[in-house]
Amino acid sequence: MNRPRLLTGDRPTGRLHLGHYVGSLANRVRLQDEYECFFLVADYHMLTTRLDHLSEVAGNIKEMVLDWLSVGIDPQRSTVYLQSLVPQVAELHLLFSMLVTTPRLQRLPSLKDTMRDLHITQPSYGLLGYPVLQAADILCVRGELVPVGRDQESHIELTREIARRFNEMFGPVLPEPKALVGDVPTLVGTDGKAKMSKSLGNTINLSDDADTVRAKVSKMYTDPNRLRATDPGTVEGNPVFIYHEAFNDNRDQVEDLKSRYRSGTVGDVEVKRLLAEAINRFLDPFRERRREFAGKPGLVGTLLQEGSARVREETAHTVRDARSAMGLSYDSIFGKGG
Ligand code: ATP
Ligand code: MG
Repeated sequence: MNRPRLLTGDRPTGRLHLGHYVGSLANRVRLQDEYECFFLVADYHMLTTRLDHLSEVAGNIKEMVLDWLSVGIDPQRSTVYLQSLVPQVAELHLLFSMLVTTPRLQRLPSLKDTMRDLHITQPSYGLLGYPVLQAADILCVRGELVPVGRDQESHIELTREIARRFNEMFGPVLPEPKALVGDVPTLVGTDGKAKMSKSLGNTINLSDDADTVRAKVSKMYTDPNRLRATDPGTVEGNPVFIYHEAFNDNRDQVEDLKSRYRSGTVGDVEVKRLLAEAINRFLDPFRERRREFAGKPGLVGTLLQEGSARVREETAHTVRDARSAMGLSYDSIFGKGG
């Protein structure tokens, strides 16, 4: 029996971090048997904000695929591919761009967040169309489930609207996919800012070594009103405790630290030391697998080429069906099949 399809991906703008893991990667790894999975390296999407960093892209692509493999994305079971090696996705994007209005795109909170974070005053046509391209990515393989963090949920809603509008206007060609948001929908940054994000420099990366994790955790933002270890501290909303909840497998220790923090009987140094230890325990298996895959030269290139060839084929079918439903197959001029 055919399994339903799952598609998602990341932009090659830097190393993947703990936010990616809890927002989306954990679900991807977990669902590899239940779904036929497609994971894309979204290099066209990267162009929407990073035209001045193109020299870093090749390196980022390689490291990002290694990040995926290190957390347990299994290329034997799942297809990994490079967006720009599937030119038909740009064709689908063009067709979809006729089905959505500019005010609808301008209203998306993710556009406003990106413009604010990156100090962009006038979005390019491409940045405005970011979610339309995402709809093309998802629907080109007829994806039905899309694991994403909370910030991308509104894009999946837009994808559903585009699919619905297409089907209503031209006939039932496209599925209406659902978003699947992870256990921690938006992980805070080490600086206490709302979202851990590559662009904000407030990340703990999946590929960080143990010393780097210790250094980043020791500088983490915590309860700003607590001056001494004997002051009662606040656990709720405190990034250090949010991370303890998300990554520390020693639950008794977490509960003990929380109650001692509230009563002012444990210092921030101790809480952070135990957090760094927990995160390092969490990352150790990833580090080991990364070393194995990194030792196989040419692996990432081969996976991306093979995966992209497969997705080109799938996408060609979808584009053909979409064109034909829209009456763009011009059989009357070229004869049947033209
Ligand atoms: P950039 O700053 O370049 O946009 P990013 O860190 O926001 O990078 P993306 O590549 O935009 O990462 O996001 C990839 C996926 O990871 C998306 O599904 C997104 O929702 C999810 N994600 C990113 N950051 C977080 C986070 N802090 N918490 C939960 N999910 C996240
Ligand atoms: Mg982002």
